[in-house]
Amino acid sequence: MKNVDVISRVIVNGKSHLATINMLKGTTLYGEKLVSRDGNEYRTWDPFRSKMAAAYTKGLQFDFSKIRNILYLGASTGTTVSHLSDIMGHTGKIFAVESSARVARELISNVSSKRTNVIPIIEDARKPRNYFSIYDKMDLVYCDIAQPDQTNIATDNCKIYLKEEKPLLLVIKTRSIDVTMSPKNVISQEIRRLEGQSFRIKQNIDLAPFDKDHAMVEAIFCPA
Ligand code: SAM
Repeated sequence: MKNVDVISRVIVNGKSHLATINMLKGTTLYGEKLVSRDGNEYRTWDPFRSKMAAAYTKGLQFDFSKIRNILYLGASTGTTVSHLSDIMGHTGKIFAVESSARVARELISNVSSKRTNVIPIIEDARKPRNYFSIYDKMDLVYCDIAQPDQTNIATDNCKIYLKEEKPLLLVIKTRSIDVTMSPKNVISQEIRRLEGQSFRIKQNIDLAPFDKDHAMVEAIFCPA
């Protein structure tokens, strides 16, 4: 079989869009466009709807080829989770944590009931020991939780579930942390917090104009 990139760019109406190979051919989730090319069907990945797509568009360098399982905190209705599901395909799994039962109902009916590599966990990410469906350590923790203590929530989960020397992708929503401080200073403060908890910062991407006052930080877990 021809080796193809699971994350690619496609042209729709003359414009280039980020896209993933659709695991569920013929289906869309949030109004994204489907494009057939070389025997594959691609789903456009909207950087205004997904911070991971925004980060890629703004220059994030992140290779999923060695990632087999992901702990995703703040799954919401599954927009980004669905693209990670495309990327993982049949060889990987995403454990998708969401605390709101109302939101999780949509995650289950629209995403995890159809995509067998998505395992929903309806729990508070502040209580990571309650995730009974996780039986292994993770290759990646992704956190997009928009809470004042989001960095500590992410690191607490990493200490239990992330393999050593593996990445955390943390979305920092500065206005959820401190509206009185400048966004730049909030990001520096959260980066220092990560460094103080055995993480080495690899990338720090400003998500504007897709998400104002947000950053995506890649930090490698290096416990002593
Ligand atoms: N990551 C999603 C995406 O790109 O499609 C958007 C996530 S949205 C910004 C944040 C989500 O985190 C909300 O759905 C919210 O209910 C959830 N959340 C907030 N606090 C949480 C907690 N303590 N545990 C689990 N989920 C939480």
